[in-house]
Amino acid sequence: MFFKGIDSLNVYNNSLIWHGNNYELLDFEYEIKKKAKLVSNNIKSLWRYKDFLPFIDDENIVSVSEGFTPLLELNLGSKPCYIKMDQIFLSGSYKDRGASVLISFVKQLGIKNVVQDSSGNAGASIAVYCALAKISCDIYVPKETSSGKVVQAKASGAKVILVEGDREKTAEVAFDAAKKSYYASHCYNPVFFEGTKTFLFEVFEQLNFKMPEAIVLPAGNGTLLLGCFLGAKQLINAGIADNMPKLIAVQSSNCNPLYKFINNEPFTDNFGSTIAEGIAIKKPVRLKQMAEAVKQSNGLVINVDDEDIKKTWFNLAKMGFMVEPTSAATITGLNIYLQNYVTSGNVVSLFSGNGLKSTDKWINYLN
Ligand SMILES: *Cc1c(COP(=O)(O)O)cnc(C)c1O
Repeated sequence: MFFKGIDSLNVYNNSLIWHGNNYELLDFEYEIKKKAKLVSNNIKSLWRYKDFLPFIDDENIVSVSEGFTPLLELNLGSKPCYIKMDQIFLSGSYKDRGASVLISFVKQLGIKNVVQDSSGNAGASIAVYCALAKISCDIYVPKETSSGKVVQAKASGAKVILVEGDREKTAEVAFDAAKKSYYASHCYNPVFFEGTKTFLFEVFEQLNFKMPEAIVLPAGNGTLLLGCFLGAKQLINAGIADNMPKLIAVQSSNCNPLYKFINNEPFTDNFGSTIAEGIAIKKPVRLKQMAEAVKQSNGLVINVDDEDIKKTWFNLAKMGFMVEPTSAATITGLNIYLQNYVTSGNVVSLFSGNGLKSTDKWINYLN
């Protein structure tokens, strides 16, 4: 098991390398054993895919049956498709996939405190898993973050630091703190993606060990997008799957760096605001990798407007799915994809986050 390009043990204990004037992005590499089985045990969580996960001793695995969320066949617009219920995780978002694997890894290393920054859900999720592992954690969030997410992190015992300014400013402040602690970042730390890739494994297993034609995903920092790409590559390399699904990334038209980058449109990080706070990422640190994932999978980026997001958001709630605005953005993109692109196979998407954490957003629209 090693981090690509760097052979110092220090990396394990730091997760962040200061190089020149920049933080170096690390990738995580380890050998998957020959004849690895996708489902190697009877555990009803993402740890059923142990052969494909970093090796962690059983006593260090931090897990409360996360993963294996239901895959429902639904008709949310024009055509039926499959939706994965990732809003039902312990912390209310799919980030628990990454948190379970990353915090298990941190526990295995014997680390006792971490820092993390996020626009909300990643912080809440890391806070919950640190509580389970008895690791102390400091979470940095922008001041505007939905109060439900802040409350959740605090309730699980994390110290929450509200940062004056946007998501990027929050990251800067967290970087400084990370120099004296372990940076359990969901976008820099490559171990997080080892968890998010299980989304793809589950979809594959739930579709009777067949890849869908396309997967429609939110794209902020791309943790799920890159996880799916990684998971699909590993299954293809192991001879378990034979094709890569198209990865369709959904961004807000007010904040779409991936769309602009892929389509060679000039841009600065001077983007506007959106109700979809989970994908309001102006400078995704892994932007180039995200573009590669979309291109190599023959996918594309779909932009969605706030007005359409709101309509989807209200409609979903009336169907019983009270999700957060970012999840409604993804489903808006899914509907655009189903209406405008010819598909013959299965199309999969997800509810990424529970709406009960965004009641402060809901309240503005209800009377
Ligand atoms: C984090 C998050 C997203 C966006 O995921 P990225 O990894 O930043 O692309 C979408 N929806 C919800 C609910 C999230 O918490």
